[in-house]
Amino acid sequence: MNKDIKSLYIHIPFCENICNYCDFPKLQYFTIFVQKYLKKLEEELASYNIKDLKTIYIGGGTPTSLSDEEFKNLLDIVSKYSNDVEEYTVEANPESLSISKLQLMKKYGVNRLSIGVESTNDQILQSINRHHSFLDVIKCIENAKQIGFDNINVDLIIGLPNVTPKMLEKDIFNILSLGIQHISCYSLTVHEHTIFGMKNVKEPGGDIARELYDLVNEKLTAKGFVHYEISNWCKPDYQSKHNLTYWKNEQYYGCGLGASGYIGDLRYTNTKSINSYIDGNIVDYKEFVSLKDNEEYYILLNLRTMYGIDLSEFSRIYNKDIYKEHKEYIDECISKGILEIKNDHLICTYEGMMTLDQVIINLF
Ligand code: SF4
Repeated sequence: MNKDIKSLYIHIPFCENICNYCDFPKLQYFTIFVQKYLKKLEEELASYNIKDLKTIYIGGGTPTSLSDEEFKNLLDIVSKYSNDVEEYTVEANPESLSISKLQLMKKYGVNRLSIGVESTNDQILQSINRHHSFLDVIKCIENAKQIGFDNINVDLIIGLPNVTPKMLEKDIFNILSLGIQHISCYSLTVHEHTIFGMKNVKEPGGDIARELYDLVNEKLTAKGFVHYEISNWCKPDYQSKHNLTYWKNEQYYGCGLGASGYIGDLRYTNTKSINSYIDGNIVDYKEFVSLKDNEEYYILLNLRTMYGIDLSEFSRIYNKDIYKEHKEYIDECISKGILEIKNDHLICTYEGMMTLDQVIINLF
């Protein structure tokens, strides 16, 4: 069963500082935890029959918050699985993406970086408890390029408090000046237990969120970036192969604190408690995925991308014709410019991506 699994996600939960909006499984960096964590992670990885991977993604948290020695230890552990992978990504924060860590990554075959930039305005960065400046971003990307990295993503948050459309436009301008290949833009979501949640910070409302989103899309596509997933743009041929695994509803291993995986007909999520994880109580939640659930995941995930639903593949897997089954609704969406059918694929237009929740409810 595991022979079809080509992707591995590894979560490193440690961070130098905790950002005001953050809802990821994370904790303050303490070296004493890191040693124990890496040992348990190595055991967890060994418990799966992992081989012949195509993509590895080490995310967090902040993998680069580890000391050089700990970081090397992590890359050593992962090296058992990284032979011949096509895409090997590591997430980093600008303040800890040092030359020594870049060199280590290069040596161990990492070929894609994903850098948490979030804003290019230093005051805004301070207000969300980020501990880097835009100058740090410029410097670390220059260093990365010099060391030979040519596949770099930056993350940007849309809708942070006090960021006007003009400021967002400046963010995009600044980010484009970095000469990178991939940009992920996520709308601010305020979760109750975060600093933002406690301070009652508001997410941007529907119309404003849409205005900001349109602005990002307009500026990036004008510069040759392809909008290939709701929140992701890339230069041609620089799609994230790893993230496409998720969006194509393919299986993947997930290891580390709070990581999720999808193996066979099981989706699982690991514990978010560092003590439970270190004690070996790793998987916290398992969900059996029936064929019907699988079909819903397939629709929901594939429609997020510009590739949409492969109609022949869909009928082969689920033994049904989605177009015939929802003909009236799909035809109505096509006439409204929300959906389109191209080369045997049912695809959301930009407008469709913006109203995806509605489309999915109707297709379920
Ligand atoms: S660096 Fe990333 S994971 Fe860590 S607190 Fe900030 S947003 Fe969360």
